[in-house]
Amino acid sequence: MFIDGEWVDARSGKTFDVTNPATGELLGSAPAGEPEDAVAAIDAAYASFPDWANTTAYERSRLLYSAWQLMTERSEMLAQLMTAEQGKPLKAARAEVNYAADFLIWFAEEAKRVNGEWLPSQRPDQRFLSVKAPVGVVAAITPWNYPISMLTRKMGPALAAGCTLVLKPAESTPLCAKATFEVFVDAGIPEGVINLVTAVEPAPIGDVFTADPRVAKLTFTGSTAVGRVLASKSAANLQRISVELGGHAPFIVFPDADPVHAAKGAAALKFLNAGQACISPNRLYVPASLRSTFEETLCSRVEKIETGNGAVEGVGVGPLVSDTAVAKVERQVEDARDKGAGVPVGGTRLTQGDYAAGHFFAPTVLTDVTEDMTIYREETFGPVAPVISYDDPDQVIELANDTNYGLAAYVYTRDIGVAMRAFERLRFGIIGVNDVNPTSASVPFGGMGDSGLGREGGHEGINEYLETKTGGFAI
Ligand code: ADP
Repeated sequence: MFIDGEWVDARSGKTFDVTNPATGELLGSAPAGEPEDAVAAIDAAYASFPDWANTTAYERSRLLYSAWQLMTERSEMLAQLMTAEQGKPLKAARAEVNYAADFLIWFAEEAKRVNGEWLPSQRPDQRFLSVKAPVGVVAAITPWNYPISMLTRKMGPALAAGCTLVLKPAESTPLCAKATFEVFVDAGIPEGVINLVTAVEPAPIGDVFTADPRVAKLTFTGSTAVGRVLASKSAANLQRISVELGGHAPFIVFPDADPVHAAKGAAALKFLNAGQACISPNRLYVPASLRSTFEETLCSRVEKIETGNGAVEGVGVGPLVSDTAVAKVERQVEDARDKGAGVPVGGTRLTQGDYAAGHFFAPTVLTDVTEDMTIYREETFGPVAPVISYDDPDQVIELANDTNYGLAAYVYTRDIGVAMRAFERLRFGIIGVNDVNPTSASVPFGGMGDSGLGREGGHEGINEYLETKTGGFAI
């Protein structure tokens, strides 16, 4: 753990093991932090806040720029560590490190774009000024599926704004968190400004974060269930929050679309990170007229995906995070099969040979998926593409909107009018139009409804860490 400028063990001396999800191999261990460690980290963040908040925006920008340079230099080492600890194929891990570094350079620049306003008064002897100030100590809780970029997406804007922070990473990826912190430490972030508390029992740490009145803001990325609990606890303490939660993305192919192009897009998008992404498509709506071509192309692509250890060249789908995750996917697939879905590709756990030591599920296509199936409403977080056949293009947007989630949606059409109407009517925070990657450090990321509150990245991202201060000056 990293507390007040020092790498430290948990005060209890306890540790927990970190394993490779593809092989079961022991990768190392991490300190099992407990509430007293979290309190020490908040002490440090609180004590260092006034000095850090008083640094110039140029100084904070320079430090973030150095962190960007270091992360870029270390990208191959970070990618290999990520593949070993989290499981995604090396190529995807490299892409994630680039994405993670992008948040550093983006917020290095945004740090210098925080402006105030000079506002009119009704009195000639009065002047009004409104400025932005950092909120204070930030507590951050991050997930395992993007174990480096989810840290920089929070740390970049928090540091740019002038906040200090305490971060608790997911229990399955503490080594990526440590390596990310090393980047910031080596870049020269002053003592106490950033603090890392690793833990195997997250709830008591979350309780410290949400109960301590010195924590001004909680930022969380993870499941909707945990986000809801944390948000309600934070509310009692009037902490500012941003929570980026689950999703259930529709992927709509309109009748005028090229079904081959759309199926290739679906195959590329759905199996990224073995489907363990909150913006992964969970409902593929395909018109009856295009169904056979779409399904044929999708199946032929999915059959060719190699599943295995992400460190091996050519592997496209790695392991899932745990056996519990595999069991959830298996339960959804069995439920769909029992209720009449076709399973032309995959559909089973992989347990033989090299697969025995890891948590693998075969890349799967489900056809004839209907509303009564669990997978139609529950987030999957696994390599399963559920295809739903529809008849009426006027109704498909309503079907797509019929979810409590509102994070990402995808649309395939060659008609600009159809695209624009869909973009306007879909109730989702991120919409890809013929585009399987509608994300970037330069644009806002976040969802509506049960997908969360607040936006990360873009110009808006830094606002989550700032508050407004008004000055009235009688002259
Ligand atoms: P996932 O299903 O993606 O694992 P979680 O919401 O369980 O999502 O985990 C995301 C992050 O939330 C992880 O860092 C995890 O340790 C943390 N977490 C899980 N449960 C709690 C809790 N009760 N309080 C605080 N943090 C928690």
